[in-house]
Order: sequence, then structure tokens, then C-alpha cells
Amino acid sequence: MIPYGRQEIDDEDVAAVVAALRSDWLTQGPTIEAFESDLALMTGAEHAVAYCNATAALHGACHAAELGPGDLLITSSLSFAASANCGRYVGADVGFVDIDPKTLNLDPAAVPEGVEALVPVHFAGLPVDLTQLVHRPRVIIEDAAHAIGATTPDGPVGNCAHSDMTVFSFHPVKTITTGEGGAVTTNNAHLAERLRRFRHHGIRAVPDRGGWYYEIDEIGMNYRLTDMQAALGRTQLAKLGGFISRRHELAQRYDLLLAGLPVTTAPAAGAGFTHGHHLYPIRVQHRDEVFSYLRQNGIGTQVHYVPIHHQPAYASSASSHLVNTNEAYEQILSLPLFPTLTEAEQDKVVDTLADALAKSAP
Ligand SMILES: *Cc1c(COP(=O)(O)O)cnc(C)c1O
Repeated sequence: MIPYGRQEIDDEDVAAVVAALRSDWLTQGPTIEAFESDLALMTGAEHAVAYCNATAALHGACHAAELGPGDLLITSSLSFAASANCGRYVGADVGFVDIDPKTLNLDPAAVPEGVEALVPVHFAGLPVDLTQLVHRPRVIIEDAAHAIGATTPDGPVGNCAHSDMTVFSFHPVKTITTGEGGAVTTNNAHLAERLRRFRHHGIRAVPDRGGWYYEIDEIGMNYRLTDMQAALGRTQLAKLGGFISRRHELAQRYDLLLAGLPVTTAPAAGAGFTHGHHLYPIRVQHRDEVFSYLRQNGIGTQVHYVPIHHQPAYASSASSHLVNTNEAYEQILSLPLFPTLTEAEQDKVVDTLADALAKSAP
């Protein structure tokens, strides 16, 4: 089976993890801070705070922004559940705006007044244009789980030019990996401090009352990354540029190979933006048949995503306006895209898709 996504780990990555294992620190050590500095440098944000995964990082971001009961958090329903769950963790209400069918991103102009927080998801790695917001919520937390390495006219995603915080994921299917892992970037020192404290039980050291003494004003979690993971994150991050350019090559090759087939190819980035190409999502008629045929023939396609508002846990969220989201869900398929995908494998994906489309046509 050719999977839809896969990590690329080389000898340098392995050596970095082994060195961390043999060091004095397996967690809470200097490699964490070094990884955070690397992330801040790459994105251009002032602060980066590493977390054990992006789900925890989104929770930390909602806590840091002091979201809670009575607040409405809005996100895209065509996303992984974590984009919405973070609001529920802190007791906020969660709602959805519809996507723009051309970008598959939430439509910034559709974000209504009266929203406390927005979690724009850069779907497949294509950045949401946050300059197009008509109503700016108090808090904006970018879900950039797909979008490390993507850029906007303001620079790299994660620089928080138009947001309070940006969250990244380092799960193995994402563009760089730490096994499990995540991070939040921000230009706000107060938010960075709240993010660090929440990651570590809410603990605040009070040295004038003794070297051992600490206070907990607000309950936190243990959401720490390990030093082995941070070591892997550093060597992976150093290869980000290469990963992204290989993803671009493969995406462009898909665009060409698919040109003659009855499919809508993946949305391209607009002027001034570059794509992160985490996913290559196409749209087809008879998606269910095409999906089954691909899976039966060794192609690990996936549907990103079952809309969050279809989940029973979100049955109480208003959803009748999510017309474009529902329509996209009926047609969407992600084709395999990862740096070690070979051209021969890509040809096999396209040939199998062509067969599937021919067989599923009425
Ligand atoms: C993967 C993903 C997450 C969660 O990331 P984890 O690191 O696995 O917790 C959140 N949002 C989106 C859009 C994702 O794709």
C-alpha cells in the first residue's frame, strides 16, 4: 500500500535522537529551548513553546487567551476534530463558518460579528488570507498543523502577522515530525508565559520564598515534549526547505498528470502565497467508489475530513449554512504525497485513479 503520507527519517535524525538519549536530559533539558529557538527563527515569531502534540498546543493556546464559558470559538468544519475540540476543552461554544470551495479554507469574509475566537485552519497547507477578515475576533489562533513551510505576503506561516498564536503539529504524517509533537508561536510575551506555565502544571516558581517553592494560580497540564523528540525536531526542521520543494515538485507533477482526467485538482496558492502541500486533495464524482477501488489496488488514499459538524459530539452546533463544506466532503480524496514518493509510485497512483474513474462513470 502506498500511504497518503509518510515521514522521512535519515541517519542524521537517528544520530540526534541517540545523542539526546545519552545526554543528561531526557525531558526539560536544553534541547527543548534550542528547538524552540530554531522554530522562532524559522517563522520569525518572537516566541515558540513546544508541546507534546498539536492537540495539547491548541488547548494551551485557548487557555493562554483566556477563552471560556460564554465565548464562541469559530473554525472550519472541514478539518481534524482537534481544531474544534480545543474550544470545548476550555468550556467555550464552538461554531463553524463555511469554506470557500476554491481554496477549501474557511471564508474569512464569512466570519460574523460577535465571535470571540477564530481558529483558521490552513487546509492542506494553503494559508488562509487573514487580511480578508471583515470582523476581527478578539483572539486568532492559526491551526497550521498542515502549513509549516508555507508563506504569506507577510512571510512564513507562524510569524503571527495577523494572529495571536500559531499552532504546528509534528505528527509523522505532517511535513516534519517528532513522533508526537507540537508547538505554539506568538509575538506576545504574556501569552508565551501562560503557554509555558500551562504546559507544566500551571507552576510558577517563587524564588524569594525558597528554591523549592512554587505556586499554582491556575491548573495546568503535563503537556511537555521530551528532549529526544526535540532533538529529532531540530534535524527535521533543518530539512524543511528540501521537504517542501520535493512536495512542490510532486504536486506540480500531479497537476500535469491529472490534467486530462475528470477531477478537480488541488487548489493552488494565490499571488504572494506559497503552499505547504501537506495534502494533495482532489475532487471527483462517485468518490466512494473511487476511494474503494484505490484502496483495493494498493493506493492509501484518505478522505480529509469527515466534517466536524457531522460528529454526534457537535450535533448542537448550527450547521445548515455549511453547504460548501458538505459538498466538498462528498467529493474529496487525498492522493499520496510525501518526499520519498517516487515518480513510478506517483504514476501508479494516477493510472489506478484513471481506471477507477473509468469504472465508476455511469
Ligand atoms: C494533525 C492535526 C491536528 C492535531 O495534531 P496532533 O499533533 O496529532 O495532536 C490538529 N489540527 C489539524 C488540522 C491537524 O491536521
